[in-house]
Amino acid sequence: MSDTKMVSLDAMDEQLIQKAKQEGVETMWDRKVTMKAPCGFGEKGVCCRICAMGPCRVSPVEGKGAQRGICGATADTIVARNFARMIAAGTAAHSDHAREIAHVMHLASKDGNYTIKDEKKLLRLAEEWEVKTEGKDIYDIAHEVAEIALNEFGKPFGTLRFLERAPEPRKKIWEKLKIKPRAIDREIATIMHSTHMGCTSDAESLIHMGMRTALADGWGGSMIGTEFSDILFGTPVPRETEANLGVLEEKQINILLHGHEPSLSEMIVMASQDPELVKLAHEVGAEGINLAGMCCTGNEVTMRHGVKIAGNFYQQELAVLTGVVEAVIVDVQCIFPSLTPITDCYHTKFITTSPKAKITGATHIEFNEEKALESAKGIVREAIENFKNRKQDKIFIPKTKAQATVGYSVEAVIKQLDRVVNSQIDPLGTVKPLADVIKAGVLRGAAGIVGCNNPKTQHDYGHIEVMKKLIANDVIVVTTGCAAQAAAKAGLTSKDAAKLAGKGLQAVCELVDIPPVLHMGSCVDISRIITLVSETAKFMGVDNCDLPVVGVAPEWMSEKAVAIGNYVMASGIDVFLGVLPPVTGSPEVVDLLTNRVEEMTGAKFFMDEDSLKLADMMLVRIEEKRKNLEKLGLATMNTAQEDDASTTALSEIV
Ligand code: SF4
Ligand code: SF4
Repeated sequence: MSDTKMVSLDAMDEQLIQKAKQEGVETMWDRKVTMKAPCGFGEKGVCCRICAMGPCRVSPVEGKGAQRGICGATADTIVARNFARMIAAGTAAHSDHAREIAHVMHLASKDGNYTIKDEKKLLRLAEEWEVKTEGKDIYDIAHEVAEIALNEFGKPFGTLRFLERAPEPRKKIWEKLKIKPRAIDREIATIMHSTHMGCTSDAESLIHMGMRTALADGWGGSMIGTEFSDILFGTPVPRETEANLGVLEEKQINILLHGHEPSLSEMIVMASQDPELVKLAHEVGAEGINLAGMCCTGNEVTMRHGVKIAGNFYQQELAVLTGVVEAVIVDVQCIFPSLTPITDCYHTKFITTSPKAKITGATHIEFNEEKALESAKGIVREAIENFKNRKQDKIFIPKTKAQATVGYSVEAVIKQLDRVVNSQIDPLGTVKPLADVIKAGVLRGAAGIVGCNNPKTQHDYGHIEVMKKLIANDVIVVTTGCAAQAAAKAGLTSKDAAKLAGKGLQAVCELVDIPPVLHMGSCVDISRIITLVSETAKFMGVDNCDLPVVGVAPEWMSEKAVAIGNYVMASGIDVFLGVLPPVTGSPEVVDLLTNRVEEMTGAKFFMDEDSLKLADMMLVRIEEKRKNLEKLGLATMNTAQEDDASTTALSEIV
């Protein structure tokens, strides 16, 4: 992708890339060009370097070239092993994130920096996990619940507690396939063991193992991460914000929050409101402190505080290029090491805070959770004191920003649905209105659009084109991660975007007062999506795989995305990928993922690098699922395009 016109959907990104060229600064696009075409063996997943007899690379073509590695491993084994290791790494990332939050809950105290913000949610979880609550202090309950969660990572017996939240038929499938995850870390360790040289050499077993490990992410690590973050920092409710690099302010101290764990970012939000630090900001000549989020930390703080969204994964370097970022504060995951050389070209301080993610050349100020606020204040002070070092001749803030509504937790979605419940007839607080519009065909289905950016595709193009096509066809979209930020920047998470939706979805948006694309949070918050799907399936008395629901990652790049794709598939939801995973060197693995897993889990992978084709494939699949629902007597096949039945049906329903 040497033609920069192709790099991004957003003209402002292009301007910043030009600025980088003029200032002699190297960006991801330059490195992508330098990299030339990727190695074909790596791209197809047929290289192995897990022992010192290798590295080995085998031919992806049967009967031609080396067919086996030195130990005798075939392309199928090598590909499946590499794929399983990607799942293990992704699961480990979410697992460590969740463990951190569980530890923070264990630290929480009435007078401490970390308190319990959503007591009701804690009590609901305590009840679910059979923790006695009567007469107990809320913090004692929190500590007990936190201990149970911490045991989920390494308990010696049983399976994960959150699996009980799945619909009954799903649990039976997991039971039958023997893929109910036991302890989260155990599944990761088992993959690393089984993919060691001379262990599992059977592709199907490795795919099975991958599903079990991935489920330990979705129904373990990620779910703990989301639930505990809500309890500690508040369950999100709808709120307004703005998105894109235009949220950076010329006259304020700009602090970019990048990474993942809300235990840090929540404290930075508190510190940025500290009167002493605000006073210091004024003393150094700034009008205030402007926080802006990036990637999933950005999603966490926007969901709970409406902190503005600077951008997504692709834009981390571009933000620094504006010349107005006093500090990029990071913790873990998705942080470019190139932020070191790029911040060196400007006045920006690149501050790492986690011992899990130290980066050469960055300023490391370790975040101390035991003295969280004090620690966060120290970091914010560094940013404020850096304001004086701005290089005036290097400032360029793009004007682009969009209005966005964020904050759609499952609880918030259900609350919105209550708006159309006739409380004389139906109880409040259920997913019934959602089930009703799906059954009636007012909504054809739902799609979870998630995942990263990837320089193999035009920045945000896949996210936005897929979203637009789906909502125009009356498919409601829920989104997380960098896809959610793409949607926010494009204005698709604003209520105004309903005008881009089909008639059925438009009517739902108006009546329920929601945008057609719902921002549900960060990557761990995909657990919110599977919770919502599972609640709807349970309400309708079916399994997840019976619903007209799809998941799609148009621009995925990380191992976490591989883990997510696999747990979504193993949860019974078809997964559409816009970037090919490194599996094409094994026809066996491709057949397993895109075909045979469906017999096991009721869902499978679809892959196409053309986003519009991908969207068409999703619409076809959604209609196929509707046909099945109709056979079960649970749906009508009217289409929104056929007549005005969509609005009629909705008004009848509500
Ligand atoms: S495990 Fe086998 S295929 Fe892999 S590097 Fe060692 S010898 Fe080669
Ligand atoms: S969507 Fe991908 S790039 Fe963005 S924060 Fe999540 S894993 Fe990182």
